[in-house]
Amino acid sequence: MAVAVFALSSCSEYSYEKVSGDPLGTRIYTLDNGLKVYLSVNKEQPRIQTIISVRVGAKHDPAETTGLAHYFEHLMFKGTDKFGTSDYAAEKPLLDQIEALFEQYRVTTDERQRKAIYAQIDELSQQASKLSIPNEYDKLIQSIGGDGCNAWTSYDETSYMSEIPSNQVENWAKIESERFKNAVIRGFHTELETVYEEYNMSLTRDNSKVIEKFLGLMMPNHPYGQHTVLGKQEHLKNPSITNIKNYYKTYDVPNNMAICMAGDFTPDEAIAIIEKYFGKGNNDAIKSLDGFSNDFVNAITDYVNNEWVVPDDFVGRDDALAQFKKKVKDITDARVNKIGTAIHDLGVQLQNAKNLAK
Ligand SMILES: [Zn+2]
Repeated sequence: MAVAVFALSSCSEYSYEKVSGDPLGTRIYTLDNGLKVYLSVNKEQPRIQTIISVRVGAKHDPAETTGLAHYFEHLMFKGTDKFGTSDYAAEKPLLDQIEALFEQYRVTTDERQRKAIYAQIDELSQQASKLSIPNEYDKLIQSIGGDGCNAWTSYDETSYMSEIPSNQVENWAKIESERFKNAVIRGFHTELETVYEEYNMSLTRDNSKVIEKFLGLMMPNHPYGQHTVLGKQEHLKNPSITNIKNYYKTYDVPNNMAICMAGDFTPDEAIAIIEKYFGKGNNDAIKSLDGFSNDFVNAITDYVNNEWVVPDDFVGRDDALAQFKKKVKDITDARVNKIGTAIHDLGVQLQNAKNLAK
């Protein structure tokens, strides 16, 4: 990463950094609560691409509810206490009962009892759904001329995107800040069926199976090897809304998030709006989330040093072996944010180790 040059704008009360040599001159702000904001101006069209990224993913799933980061991402489209509902006061007690029933359900093993609890969940969910307004988040974004609402989840990242007209930054910030402060888990058991379907589809993809197997063998003692983004089948069948709420409270906090905007807007105005809607609220710093880079580098280094079977070609050739290990370390260091590429490169290196030794 290039060295950041500190610059203070003369017409704005917000200071920002730039990365030297960045041809787009992206401004990087850090609000008092730790929220990072990346603003990149491009006047080609009167539109803005927005992405809100949270530094959390499958790696942080509780061990007994893998897949949680991913299904939570789906649930972030269900609204808050202010939208997605016609009467939150009436809806909340029903949602609380559903949460409590799921906690019972997940520890119940007797099939007959499980069916009975699930029937209750189903019944309460139907009552609650009469008070909810489906897709209201998408409709709100559409109503301001927005488009391309979507999201993705990976091991260390969950990101939410939408594309909006240039003159709608404030309305967009209003909607998005609500969702990051007051998301409400509703429509849970039906959304989980959608997620389960995604899981089933993944079972037909060879490439997912290879990656899962590879990561499992490579890092058996680390969530990268133990968790998958879509989660384990038995975990998807025994979800916990309580775990979701704890996860949301822990990780979806300003100093663990970044807002990125690229398009036609005035940075001084945009940062003032973002500060207005995202700058307050949860100021609790999360203690120290372990960085992706160190975890990944350590896991790979451990593997190469302790588990990898050194090919015969390296016997008696310590220099060649040291050089090879350095190469592996260089790859992991350079690719820390791109796990897919790193694993591919690493696989090629390990496969070619014999040739490299020659
Ligand atoms: Zn999904």
